[in-house]
Amino acid sequence: MSRVLNFSAGPSAIPLAVLERAQAEFTNYHGLGFSIMEVSHRGKVFEELHNNAIAKLKSFYNIGDDYAVLFLQGGATLQFAQIPMNIYTGGVAEYVNTGVWTQKAIKEAKIQNINYKVIASSEDTKFDHIPNFNFSDDADYGYICSNNTIYGTQYATLPSPKCPLVVDSSSDLLSREIDFKAHNIGLFYGGAQKNAGPAGITIVIVKKDLAARVKDSVPTPLRYTTQIEANSLANTPPTFGIYMFDLVLDWIKDQGGLNAINAVNEQKAAALYELIDNSDFYKAFAKPGSRSLMNVSFATPSAELDGAFVKLAEQNGMIGLKGHRILGGLRASIYNAVTQQSVQTLCEFMKEFQRTHG
Ligand SMILES: *Cc1c(COP(=O)(O)O)cnc(C)c1O
Repeated sequence: MSRVLNFSAGPSAIPLAVLERAQAEFTNYHGLGFSIMEVSHRGKVFEELHNNAIAKLKSFYNIGDDYAVLFLQGGATLQFAQIPMNIYTGGVAEYVNTGVWTQKAIKEAKIQNINYKVIASSEDTKFDHIPNFNFSDDADYGYICSNNTIYGTQYATLPSPKCPLVVDSSSDLLSREIDFKAHNIGLFYGGAQKNAGPAGITIVIVKKDLAARVKDSVPTPLRYTTQIEANSLANTPPTFGIYMFDLVLDWIKDQGGLNAINAVNEQKAAALYELIDNSDFYKAFAKPGSRSLMNVSFATPSAELDGAFVKLAEQNGMIGLKGHRILGGLRASIYNAVTQQSVQTLCEFMKEFQRTHG
C-alpha cells in the first residue's frame, strides 16, 4: 500500500526522506553496528548528535550563548506548570487567552497561586482571531501561544514587548524565521510531534538569565537550571526523539532553511484559504489577518456533510481531516512535512466534493 496524504494535527506527518533515513540507519547507525537507541546518552556518539542538533537549532533561530536549548519530556503540557514555577518572581505574569492551550497554561498559573492577569482574550468570539493587546513593560513575563492548533489562528507577527516574551510554539515550531531579539523572547517552546518529529521530546529555548530566576523551593528535576547545567542530561533524555528531531533539522536545511519553508507554507495555506473563500460551500473558521499557515479549520454547511467529507477523503487516501472535537467541522493541518502536491490534491478533492454534494 502506498502512503496516505496525512493532514493530522498531531502527531502528524514527518517528511518521507526523514523516515527513510531513519529506516536505513535503524539497526546500524552510521555503520557503527548499533542503533542510536542502544547506546549511552553520555557516550561520544550520542553526545555528538545531541550537540549538533542544538547547534543546528540555534543557527536556524540565530540565537547565541545567552540562550540554552533543552530537550525535555512531559510535553508542552508540563511547560504550562514549569514556566511560572521557574520564571515568576512576584510581580504580574500576563497571559493572552487564544484558546484551549492558553487556558491550560492559565489554569496552571492559577494553581500555583501567582499573581497573573489575562490581559486579552478572543473567547467571546470562540477564539476566531488573535486579539490586540500590549504587555506591561514591567510584567514578569508575557505569555502567548503563537499558533492555535484547534481554531487555526496564528500570530502573523509576534509581539515585541519590553517584558520577556514566552511563546508556546508547539504547532508552528520551525515553520518560519523568528527574530528572538526583536521580540524579546525569554522562553520559546514546543512539543516536536506537530512540526518537528515524533512525540516524546519537548524543545525548550530559554534565556539563561530568565532561568536563573528560579527559587530554591522548586524541585531539582523541574528547574531549567538543572537541565542547563547538565546539557539536558540530568536524567536520560528521549534519545530516539532527539535523533529524529536532528534528522528533521537536516531536512529543513535541505529545503533551503526556514525562509524557504515559510514561502512554501504560505503558498499551501493560500491555496486552501482561496478555495474556501471563493466558495459558497466551505467556510473558514479563523478571521483573515489571524489565519494559521499550519492548521486550516473550516466546515461545510452541515455536520452531516462534514462527516461525509471525512469518510470520502479517507477512501481517497487522505487522513486526519476531522476537526477537533471542541470546534467540530474540518481541519487540514499542513505542517512543513505536508507537500504542496498533497495540498493540491486536497484542493481538487474539495472542489469535487462541493460539485457532488453542494
Ligand atoms: C499539542 C499542543 C500542546 C500540547 O502538547 P503535549 O505535547 O500534548 O503536551 C500545547 N500547545 C499547543 C499549541 C499544541 O498544539
